[in-house]
Amino acid sequence: MLDTTLDTLALEQAHTSGVYMKRDLQIERGEGAYLYDTTGRRYIDCVGGQGTANLGHAHPAIVTAIQRQAAELISCPELFHNPIRAQYQAALCEAAGMNRVFLCNSGAESVEAAIKFARASTGRTSIISTMRGFHGRTFGALSVTWNKSYREPVEPLVPGVNFVPFNNLERLQAALNDTVAAVIIEVVQGEGGVYPAEQGYLQAVQELCRENGSLLIVDEVQTGFGRTGSLFAHQQDGITPDLLCLAKSIAGGLPMGAVLIGDRVNTLAPSLHSSTFGGNPLVCAAALATLEVLQKTDVIEQTHQRGTAVIEHLRNALPETMVREVRGRGLLIGIELRDKAAPYLRRLQEEGVLVLTAGPTVLRLLPPLVISDADLWDVIATIERVLTDAV
Ligand SMILES: *Cc1c(COP(=O)(O)O)cnc(C)c1O
Repeated sequence: MLDTTLDTLALEQAHTSGVYMKRDLQIERGEGAYLYDTTGRRYIDCVGGQGTANLGHAHPAIVTAIQRQAAELISCPELFHNPIRAQYQAALCEAAGMNRVFLCNSGAESVEAAIKFARASTGRTSIISTMRGFHGRTFGALSVTWNKSYREPVEPLVPGVNFVPFNNLERLQAALNDTVAAVIIEVVQGEGGVYPAEQGYLQAVQELCRENGSLLIVDEVQTGFGRTGSLFAHQQDGITPDLLCLAKSIAGGLPMGAVLIGDRVNTLAPSLHSSTFGGNPLVCAAALATLEVLQKTDVIEQTHQRGTAVIEHLRNALPETMVREVRGRGLLIGIELRDKAAPYLRRLQEEGVLVLTAGPTVLRLLPPLVISDADLWDVIATIERVLTDAV
């Protein structure tokens, strides 16, 4: 056996593909909203597994579901029916108010599937996406992702994609025509800097799509499963997506994605799409346990209230000389600085708080929704102190 406490860093550096920029920290264990490094130091986790850990680390209901299912059956491709998958698909469809679902293994895969379904259903080829939008790193998903530094090194991408400014209806209206299969959009742009949809915007987007015979793909990979204070963020905007992309926190941290399919999407041909791992019983069991916790506890209601309070507080408390804007919905929070965010991320880590960025100047918080009030306000006080000390 390797002595991993000594060798993790050297081993990873020797064998990494090189595509990840890693922080100088070896995370070994998690519990609730805490992460522990290999020296035993405890951190409050506002990275939340990059949005995959809405119910925190080692949640007992999810651990039990995974343990039970692992002993029962892990592999079962969709060549066969499977009871736990059937149960989960029914529960997810009912929760979303939609009838059909395709299960896959990641956010990018859910976007790939949604784009294929939209083209097949409409017989049209082009897609409209938004500036600052992020939808994943595989070719289809990357083609509808805005950030040029992700795109340019690997072009050419899938053709027929147009980008319009987020929260701008005129530009969307001007871009729509009878070649447009779908508009793909986030409810809160996450990676792109934490920009929430303005009130009424998504309803108007939906109306424009319907008038034009285009489908509306809503990407809730990051905003789903309680993050913004409702099970799905779009429920606060009063819209009905035609295709709803889900992943990240869907299965308590296990890799899983899903596309929910609405009534305006035509029947999809057998063999149009598939996935070997998609819908495997292990992730379905974890996802069912996750959904049950979200539905049977008050964690989502709490997220709504606490998110509103925290965002309001930060807007008043943070020094204007340092902070341009505080944005967010629920516990998806972005603090846009006037300066680069990376040094403050490091300072917060020294203070025992782990956070993300969203672009070069935005600090992003994605704490587990189960974080205690004491820890949440401790995080807020630490951010205030770090940013105020820097004035
Ligand atoms: C993270 C993310 C994706 C990509 O998910 P992966 O599982 O990393 O492929 C897609 N869309 C949004 C909105 C995301 O936040």
